Amino acid sequence: MISTSLKDPDKLDLENCSREPIHIIGKTQSHGVLITCDPKNLKITQVGENATWFFGVPFEDLLGKELWYLLGEKQLEEFVEMLISKELTVPQDVLINNTKFLLLAHYSGPNLILDFEPYQEVDNPFFFQNQLTLILNKFQTATSVNQLCEAATVLTKKMFGYNRVMIYKFDEEWNGEVIAESKDEEMGSWLGLHYPATDIPAQSRQLFLKTRVRIIADVNYTAVPIVPELSPLTGEPLDISGSGLRAVSPIHIEYLKNMEVGASLSAAIIVKGQLWGLIACHHKTAKHLDFYQRESCRFMAQMFSTELTLQENTSLISQVKHSESIRRQLVAQMNNESNVVKALSEGNVKFTQLISCGGGAIFMKDRWKVIGLTPEVKQLESLLNFIKEQSESHFLTRNLSAVFPEANAYKEAASGVISLKISENIYIFWFRPEEIQEVNWGGNPQNKAFFNEKEQRISPRLSFEKWSEKLMGVSKAWQETDKDILRAFKENISYVIVVQLQKEVETLNTQLVEANKELKLFSYGLSHDLRSPVNGMEGILKIFEEDYSKELSEEGRELVQMCMDLNKKMNDLIENILEYSRLNNSDDLKVSSVDTKELIEEVLKFVNAKGSYPKTALKIQSMLPKMEGDRRLLFQLWANLLNNALKYSSKKENPKVEVGTTVKNGREVFFIKDNGIGIHPDYWETIFETFKRAVGSGFKGTGIGLAIVKKVIEKHNGEIWVESKPDQGSEFYFYLGIKNKDK
Ligand code: ADP
Repeated sequence: MISTSLKDPDKLDLENCSREPIHIIGKTQSHGVLITCDPKNLKITQVGENATWFFGVPFEDLLGKELWYLLGEKQLEEFVEMLISKELTVPQDVLINNTKFLLLAHYSGPNLILDFEPYQEVDNPFFFQNQLTLILNKFQTATSVNQLCEAATVLTKKMFGYNRVMIYKFDEEWNGEVIAESKDEEMGSWLGLHYPATDIPAQSRQLFLKTRVRIIADVNYTAVPIVPELSPLTGEPLDISGSGLRAVSPIHIEYLKNMEVGASLSAAIIVKGQLWGLIACHHKTAKHLDFYQRESCRFMAQMFSTELTLQENTSLISQVKHSESIRRQLVAQMNNESNVVKALSEGNVKFTQLISCGGGAIFMKDRWKVIGLTPEVKQLESLLNFIKEQSESHFLTRNLSAVFPEANAYKEAASGVISLKISENIYIFWFRPEEIQEVNWGGNPQNKAFFNEKEQRISPRLSFEKWSEKLMGVSKAWQETDKDILRAFKENISYVIVVQLQKEVETLNTQLVEANKELKLFSYGLSHDLRSPVNGMEGILKIFEEDYSKELSEEGRELVQMCMDLNKKMNDLIENILEYSRLNNSDDLKVSSVDTKELIEEVLKFVNAKGSYPKTALKIQSMLPKMEGDRRLLFQLWANLLNNALKYSSKKENPKVEVGTTVKNGREVFFIKDNGIGIHPDYWETIFETFKRAVGSGFKGTGIGLAIVKKVIEKHNGEIWVESKPDQGSEFYFYLGIKNKDK
């Protein structure tokens, strides 16, 4: 038989078995009697029908009676004392109708459950204690998990006398494997056999975690009903999962019978809170262990679990130490080599050494780097797309073709895959090759159940003949440690990549700054070079106008005038660009304390305010604070702002321009106010950019003035903004923060 998947296709029986409510099974095994009481008045509320046989009192007679009826005054007193002291785990010896019992009590919700088990005389009361000491020594000297398991089966067999004792280990899908065995000689070996997960369904595993030890004293017992079926205290079925007498699922009994097992004892092996496996004891005939023996078994399983945890931890620690050193070296390589892919795949240590694998691949910025045994790049592309669809940060399987059938084509290289998503376009893969495994099952797991017409329920498989299956397309299993190692590695690599990206951005930034500088110098050079031909043209036009205008027609003279105007515009533009470039190219400020009023007067003279805008009423605040800054630049600032205010209000009937200081947002600011054409709010930001204008051709201009103003303000660590109402006027506000300027 060849199987390509780890997943079992037959779900029917699995669901049926795992739905069986074994904790409220309503019946007990027959080797003892179960009674429930109301703890408030100790009146008997439920009784196992076999009470009649064990106590010699018809079970119906017990219902509603107080417990003293069964125990008598003295024993009841002792029992109550134990209840009060809450030492319920200690059994009490009681004598009922001349028969000795062990009485064990526990609570199940509001019900007090009492198990009465017949007392067994022990020949040598120290036997188990001595054995346990011996076992402890043996366990502590075991140097491997195998040795430990071996010792556990031999010693358990010797201690309790079962025909076969096995260590049964669960795999990641809860299938079990017999990894150690000690048996009577004449019995066939089950060592190495696998059993499907459904043999011990989920709710049984859950119960094992809770009760730890489970005894089936006789598979041929007749299940004893508990009467009444529902608890009178709750009106619900009684949960008897805490009782050692709980009946076993008929499916499980049939299962054991099919295996020719007459009695069994199982003890849970729990490692780090998880059910790791079972110590499973089988006997050909009925066999009962009393409470104390079961406790010894439980104690032994506990010791075994502790030793096992220690053993596993030790091998884990050495594994982790090894991978830690690889991880550290990889990080060092990444720190020394800016190309992460190179660092991980071409250094002394490769990323594929982090965990055991056949090969690996890195996908970064649309390129692949592969090491060792991997699928081809085309196949990797398609696998990556599939993994991206899973939208998880890591993807893991040991049976890729089961979830991604086209991977069957490269199962020799990649039956097992772990992928880590570092970012949207960085993925790292580790591959494990196919390891064709021959799995020997205890019976054909595909036939594990069928519908039993007679019983009208599911029955387990009949044959437990060794049945071999070849697992194809499956790799060695990934371990928890593999995942931990990769998780830590992901953090390292993410950090390195972030740092590298940051460096890249910084380098890009410096390059941009350089490019920008060059561009500024270039525009400065260009404007500077344009200046002399434009000036030359102005001179020629002047000569032309003076010497030849008489010889020209009216139209000719107008054309010359137009040429002169255009030439002037070009000149202004060049001057402005030059000024702007100069501002950009120089970082130095010649800071001094500038008399604002004096500067404004100078500016007004420079722009010929009185001559050019005779109608405009100019109001300058009498006291203006001094400014700290570069006088030449501040001159430009005021010149542009005042020139604009005068220009854009000049067409009003009574143009007004006002300059002063006011307080805005708790800060003293300068303002330049006019009653001109105003600016639509859409342009309040853009007008400060180069060549951005908010007016038509009715007003001459180059669109650079406010860009210069903004630059000057920035250089002085200040801020400027405009508030305006279209057609009513504008107010420009600014302040200089030169004192805080980091020079
Ligand atoms: P321009 O040379 O066009 O005046 P600026 O950079 O100085 O260039 O100004 C940019 C634009 O801002 C102007 O074109 C104009 O639309 C608008 N603007 C500037 N100042 C004022 C103002 N005081 N009133 C109305 N609009 C103005």
